[in-house]
Amino acid sequence: MAEDYYTILGIGRDADQNEIKKAYRQLAMQYHPDRNPDNKEAEEKFKQIGEAYAVLSDPQKRAHYDRFGRAGTRTTAGGFGGFSDPFDIFREVFGGGFGDIFGMGSSGPRRSPQRRGADLQIRLQLTLNDIANGVKKKIKLKKQVICKTCDGTGKSPGTTKVTCPSCHGQGEVAYRQGFFTVSQTCQRCGGEGQIIDKPCPTCYGEGRVRGEAFLEVDVPAGIAEGQYLTIRGEGNVGPRGGPQGDVIIIIEEKKHAEFERHGDDIVYHLRLSFPQVALGEDVEVPTLDGKAMISIPAGTQSGKILRMKGKGIPHLNSYKRGDELIKVHVWTPAKLGNKEKTLLKELSKFDSIHPKNEDKGFFERMKEAIL
Ligand SMILES: [Zn+2]
Ligand SMILES: [Zn+2]
Repeated sequence: MAEDYYTILGIGRDADQNEIKKAYRQLAMQYHPDRNPDNKEAEEKFKQIGEAYAVLSDPQKRAHYDRFGRAGTRTTAGGFGGFSDPFDIFREVFGGGFGDIFGMGSSGPRRSPQRRGADLQIRLQLTLNDIANGVKKKIKLKKQVICKTCDGTGKSPGTTKVTCPSCHGQGEVAYRQGFFTVSQTCQRCGGEGQIIDKPCPTCYGEGRVRGEAFLEVDVPAGIAEGQYLTIRGEGNVGPRGGPQGDVIIIIEEKKHAEFERHGDDIVYHLRLSFPQVALGEDVEVPTLDGKAMISIPAGTQSGKILRMKGKGIPHLNSYKRGDELIKVHVWTPAKLGNKEKTLLKELSKFDSIHPKNEDKGFFERMKEAIL
């Protein structure tokens, strides 16, 4: 299991101090736990690199290692205790706070990044007409807003912050865990190094309170149930002046009294009498923008779909528009007077009004009707 120190650093046995340092720098940057969060393998590798560097960069230890291998270093160094903490080695080589290297601020009192407020999720009910035309909606939001008493600082007005007694202003607390020294963000001050001495009486130091806000939303035409709109930076304000989260608007479609939506098309079910479909007729149908006339050709079968081009829903973010589909249903009367019965009996004597098996189109349309 114990790999050779030269192999760990990827250098030859005759490598000079510069090469050793260079190899260490490269690998340590690559495997640093800050860059590989929750990666046990990288952590182990980082430890090994540190160990290898600690031995090979010290001419005396290196000479022992070259003669006796790891056993040599252990004897002289007195076990693992002889090695420094891999993070100490890292700091020694890179000089100063390693936080700087990864762009996380100085190793002194860290200024903790301000916490962002939570996202807000709301549901917005839209009618088919809203969806067809696009709509501007004014929405009332209940959310966390900046506290006006302290202007979001969380401090009682006129007071200042004091050094955190838990971390003494360092922003982090270090503890040893076996071979590692682990630094953790200070719980008391949240990494800020300072705490509020006298919290704001209105928000109790949170810098925010429950409040209300209005949000104007432009809902684009063609949006559909289940889709959502994200409005950036209009959600809950973060604690102590932290940035606002987002508002996520989930679209819900109200059922229309007359139309069914099928993607960009809308479907209208039109009921007609047998004489109407047999003789043909111009009938009035509803559309999303008022009434329109449609011609029913003579001999129209039940289940037939008539298409009104461009009378549907606009396609989201495009100029295309769906159609309105008029589905014809021949209505059969349930109650008949004596006169109607007589007439229908008379009519049924004619062979031409009975279905023909050779009319394949009829069965095709029936299949369509079932779908
Ligand atoms: Zn306040
Ligand atoms: Zn602290």
